[in-house]
Amino acid sequence: MYFTSNMVMIVAQHFLLSRQAKTLSLGKVFRMPDAEVETLFRKVRWPDTDGAPVCPHCGSLDAYDCRRPGKAPRFRCRECKKDFSITSGTLFASHKLPLRGYLAAIAIFCNEVKGKSMLAMSRDLGVSYKTSFVLAHKLRESMAEDMKGRVIGDDRPEAEVDGAYFGGYVKPSNLREERVDRRLRKNMSGKRKVVVVIRERGGETLPGVFQSESQAVSWIKSRVVKGTTLHADEASSWNDLHARFEVKRINHEEAYSLDGACTNQAESYFSRLRRGEAGHHHHISGAYLLRYAQEAAWREDNRRTDNGEQVSRVAKNALAKRGSVDFTGYWQRHKD
Ligand SMILES: [Zn+2]
Repeated sequence: MYFTSNMVMIVAQHFLLSRQAKTLSLGKVFRMPDAEVETLFRKVRWPDTDGAPVCPHCGSLDAYDCRRPGKAPRFRCRECKKDFSITSGTLFASHKLPLRGYLAAIAIFCNEVKGKSMLAMSRDLGVSYKTSFVLAHKLRESMAEDMKGRVIGDDRPEAEVDGAYFGGYVKPSNLREERVDRRLRKNMSGKRKVVVVIRERGGETLPGVFQSESQAVSWIKSRVVKGTTLHADEASSWNDLHARFEVKRINHEEAYSLDGACTNQAESYFSRLRRGEAGHHHHISGAYLLRYAQEAAWREDNRRTDNGEQVSRVAKNALAKRGSVDFTGYWQRHKD
């Protein structure tokens, strides 16, 4: 095999700077004619009928366009006589954004490699912080759809396992004599959780959130195919994995990689999650930690997917999902 100078240039260029990765810019979203935005959403929402409306209430294909002139698309079902829109019965159902707004939100969210701050997104879209907050979480929920039922080791024989603690920050006391050892469980806030990641070498990523690493062992056993070789650090929490898997252990006090054992890919996942924590999200702990962990996993797995494809994948999941797990009833509970 020989290399032309052209090929070398392609290899050297960072993927995210390449033209291929820029198939759907925000500029393109805003220049797109209304009809094109609508066609795109209809095809993503109703892929089986190539965009022809399917009634979300009764499943009938017999619906007609009943929009008023200049208004958002609306359909009426001839079977059950009910009205619906392209987003009715989906993750976006409770929002009142124009279709272009959703497309822009998804594009902004996907394009920000380190994770998008919800405050910045609310400014970009001209919506309230609360709207932006809920929308961003729904996009995380839709990324997480890709991880449902995911099994590690089915097409690659090696995976790395690692854990890292997040949240529950305890402020050190001002006076030295009042300070406590914040590494001890009794001095932690109780909100501190461990994110455990299983990362297929050269393949997919699966995160979970637990009280401690040892509580993750049965989850790992259930999500990793038998016969997979696992790589883990020296923490005693992973000892129980030896009963089921071949486990290569790496003692990080001795080396980062020794005899083929290392957890570098799991660690690069955590550095992505930490960057998101430090740079953008100030509420990464608590109820939403799993969603942030899933977002980081999705971004890690899709880092070489061009952004047009990323946007359509997120949109497809959002429109295929029947309502939000996290935010059903949110607007009833949080009235403006
Ligand atoms: Zn109907």
